[in-house]
Amino acid sequence: MLNKKTRLAIIVPCFNEELVIKSTIETLIEVLDKLIFKDKISKDSYIYLVDDGSKDNTWSIIEELHSSYGKRVKALKFVRNYGNQKALIAGLLGVKDIGCDCAVSIDADLQQDENAIETFVDEYHKGAEIVSGIRNDRKTDTLFKKFTAICFYKLMNLLGVKIPQNHSDFRLVSSKALEIFEKYHEEGLFLRGFFHELGLKTSYVHFDVKPRMAGKSKFNFFSLTSLALNGITAFSIVPLRIIAAIGVLTVLGSFLLALEVIFEKYFLHDMPSGWATLVVLLAFFGGVQIFCLGIIGEYIGQIFNEVKARPRYIKETELT
Ligand code: UDP
Ligand code: MG
Repeated sequence: MLNKKTRLAIIVPCFNEELVIKSTIETLIEVLDKLIFKDKISKDSYIYLVDDGSKDNTWSIIEELHSSYGKRVKALKFVRNYGNQKALIAGLLGVKDIGCDCAVSIDADLQQDENAIETFVDEYHKGAEIVSGIRNDRKTDTLFKKFTAICFYKLMNLLGVKIPQNHSDFRLVSSKALEIFEKYHEEGLFLRGFFHELGLKTSYVHFDVKPRMAGKSKFNFFSLTSLALNGITAFSIVPLRIIAAIGVLTVLGSFLLALEVIFEKYFLHDMPSGWATLVVLLAFFGGVQIFCLGIIGEYIGQIFNEVKARPRYIKETELT
């Protein structure tokens, strides 16, 4: 079924993307034109850029593009860098306010295949409220990123968060999904988990990842670790239960050890000097305690962030 009235918004988070942003917008305008020509979306469909506090010329290029494309290129600028998830959240809330029937988020480097947007829209027309892009492979990733990504998805699944592997932030969400999304005020919302858990009708579309056109990846070891930790602690309390289990096992273990020591002392009369055992045990339990405290700290960190209920970001300028 073709629907002439479908207003599509394409959300693009950008952080220091001066090398690619112009050609990305041009390509996305072509995608919009093609879909308008095929009567799949309405003429007032638009691109919504979120400049995540870029330090380079990204914003001035965006301003130029806004003046040449007018209302087809809208944009928002943060006062500073808040990270890709917050930029995406701002994008989703921004297009919800401006108005759209569905919104697709895609990276500024167009590593995700922009031609899949047409398939996303087709799936939306068939009734999907969410269309999730699944990467075909991780050829373009470094070995380290590949390995950590696999571990992350395996761990998430083990912890009871059933998000499909190779999920990405390349997805379409309907205005209905956006309305629900707006009601969630969690600071550390992990979008991949959130949209998956909503339970709305979801389709999956596989796409090929291309190498980055220019510039470097904006993620480093620390930002990826923070994203992964956020994803885990925002969605699962299993680590807390593991702490409890470790506690129980430790107590049981120490009972056994006590029995053994008593046995040796009274029946074998053969007490070893014990120094090595003591040191090993001290170190071991010290380690276990610190590890457990670390996990608790993660959750306390989450609570800390949530209770502050600070605004997620502060907008500097908006072009609509
Ligand atoms: N990004 C962002 N804020 C950040 C880091 C990245 O808005 O702090 C954007 C970036 O401009 C790009 C997308 O998030 O549009 C994905 O980033 P990148 O391509 O560097 O990540 P990778 O493809 O290496 O995972
Ligand atoms: Mg990229």
